[in-house]
Amino acid sequence: MKEVLMPIAYPTKGSVGNTGLWRTLKPVINYEKCTKCFICWMYCPEAAILAEDKPVILYDFCKGCGICANECPVKAINMIKEV
Ligand code: SF4
Ligand code: SF4
Repeated sequence: MKEVLMPIAYPTKGSVGNTGLWRTLKPVINYEKCTKCFICWMYCPEAAILAEDKPVILYDFCKGCGICANECPVKAINMIKEV
């Protein structure tokens, strides 16, 4: 059976909408570099990363703080400007 890491809480829509709308920079995971250590999942303050067979960012809730990119030990997350 596939093991799925569960967060303590799930992100949800706030009174002013999805928090992802605030973002100016967007984290993008390079899955060719990602070692699936899930440190990004542990550090994301918004619980906006799912730990499945690979980390998956929930862009509706990611605020673009860049903590995940900063903590990734192999620098597999790039912060790119939102268009
Ligand atoms: S911290 Fe980096 S290497 Fe680890 S799971 Fe996240 S993206 Fe992959
Ligand atoms: S940029 Fe911030 S909010 Fe978005 S996934 Fe990374 S740690 Fe979470």
